[in-house]
Amino acid sequence: MPSNNSDTDINEDKEKSELPANTKNDRDGVLASLPLLICPFCDKYKTPIEFDMDLHLYEEHRYRLRKEFPGFSIVYSIEYVLGLIKAGARRRR
Ligand SMILES: [Zn+2]
Repeated sequence: MPSNNSDTDINEDKEKSELPANTKNDRDGVLASLPLLICPFCDKYKTPIEFDMDLHLYEEHRYRLRKEFPGFSIVYSIEYVLGLIKAGARRRR
Protein backbone atom coordinates (compact mmCIF):
# COMPACT_ATOMS: atom_id res chain seq x y z
CA MET A 1 0.00 0.00 0.00
CA PRO A 2 1.49 3.35 -1.00
CA SER A 3 1.11 5.94 1.74
CA ASN A 4 0.72 9.11 -0.28
CA ASN A 5 -0.32 11.36 2.63
CA SER A 6 -3.75 9.75 2.85
CA ASP A 7 -3.79 10.29 6.63
CA THR A 8 -3.78 14.08 6.31
CA ASP A 9 -6.44 14.28 3.63
CA ILE A 10 -9.38 13.95 6.00
CA ASN A 11 -8.08 16.57 8.42
CA GLU A 12 -7.57 19.06 5.65
CA ASP A 13 -10.96 18.28 4.19
CA LYS A 14 -12.69 21.23 5.83
CA GLU A 15 -10.17 23.91 5.01
CA LYS A 16 -9.25 22.91 1.50
CA SER A 17 -12.71 21.67 0.59
CA GLU A 18 -11.32 18.57 -1.02
CA LEU A 19 -12.25 14.97 -0.72
CA PRO A 20 -9.67 12.39 0.26
CA ALA A 21 -8.10 11.03 -2.90
CA ASN A 22 -10.08 8.08 -4.15
CA THR A 23 -7.12 6.45 -5.82
CA LYS A 24 -8.59 2.98 -5.66
CA ASN A 25 -11.60 3.73 -7.83
CA ASP A 26 -10.22 6.74 -9.63
CA ARG A 27 -6.74 5.76 -10.74
CA ASP A 28 -6.48 8.50 -13.35
CA GLY A 29 -7.50 11.23 -10.92
CA VAL A 30 -10.48 12.30 -12.99
CA LEU A 31 -12.70 12.94 -9.97
CA ALA A 32 -9.96 14.81 -8.13
CA SER A 33 -9.63 17.22 -11.05
CA LEU A 34 -13.31 18.15 -10.94
CA PRO A 35 -14.48 21.08 -8.83
CA LEU A 36 -15.97 19.87 -5.57
CA LEU A 37 -19.68 20.56 -5.23
CA ILE A 38 -20.87 21.34 -1.70
CA CYS A 39 -24.50 21.23 -0.67
CA PRO A 40 -25.53 24.74 0.47
CA PHE A 41 -28.37 23.43 2.64
CA CYS A 42 -26.52 21.03 4.92
CA ASP A 43 -22.83 21.82 4.15
CA LYS A 44 -22.11 18.18 4.88
CA TYR A 45 -22.66 16.59 1.52
CA LYS A 46 -19.77 17.03 -0.90
CA THR A 47 -19.21 15.39 -4.23
CA PRO A 48 -17.48 16.22 -7.50
CA ILE A 49 -20.28 14.41 -9.33
CA GLU A 50 -23.13 16.63 -10.46
CA PHE A 51 -25.57 13.76 -10.79
CA ASP A 52 -24.95 12.71 -7.18
CA MET A 53 -25.61 16.24 -5.95
CA ASP A 54 -28.78 16.30 -8.00
CA LEU A 55 -29.96 13.15 -6.24
CA HIS A 56 -28.91 14.48 -2.84
CA LEU A 57 -30.87 17.70 -3.33
CA TYR A 58 -33.94 15.74 -4.27
CA GLU A 59 -33.66 13.10 -1.57
CA GLU A 60 -32.69 15.35 1.34
CA HIS A 61 -33.93 18.83 0.54
CA ARG A 62 -36.93 18.62 -1.77
CA TYR A 63 -39.27 20.00 0.92
CA ARG A 64 -36.90 22.86 1.59
CA LEU A 65 -36.63 23.54 -2.15
CA ARG A 66 -40.40 23.57 -2.45
CA LYS A 67 -40.51 26.16 0.33
CA GLU A 68 -37.69 28.30 -1.07
CA PHE A 69 -39.03 28.31 -4.61
CA PRO A 70 -42.80 28.17 -4.32
CA GLY A 71 -44.55 27.75 -7.63
CA PHE A 72 -41.54 26.27 -9.39
CA SER A 73 -41.20 22.62 -10.28
CA ILE A 74 -38.81 20.59 -8.17
CA VAL A 75 -36.73 19.79 -11.26
CA TYR A 76 -36.35 23.47 -12.07
CA SER A 77 -35.48 24.32 -8.46
CA ILE A 78 -32.78 21.65 -8.36
CA GLU A 79 -31.39 22.85 -11.67
CA TYR A 80 -31.22 26.39 -10.31
CA VAL A 81 -29.50 25.44 -7.04
CA LEU A 82 -27.11 23.16 -8.92
CA GLY A 83 -26.15 26.12 -11.09
CA LEU A 84 -25.36 28.22 -8.01
CA ILE A 85 -23.33 25.39 -6.46
CA LYS A 86 -21.34 24.92 -9.67
CA ALA A 87 -20.62 28.65 -9.97
CA GLY A 88 -19.37 28.68 -6.37
CA ALA A 89 -17.25 25.59 -6.91
CA ARG A 90 -15.56 27.17 -9.91
CA ARG A 91 -14.74 30.33 -7.94
CA ARG A 92 -13.06 28.34 -5.18
CA ARG A 93 -10.43 26.89 -7.46
ZN1 LIG B 1 -27.55 18.64 1.68
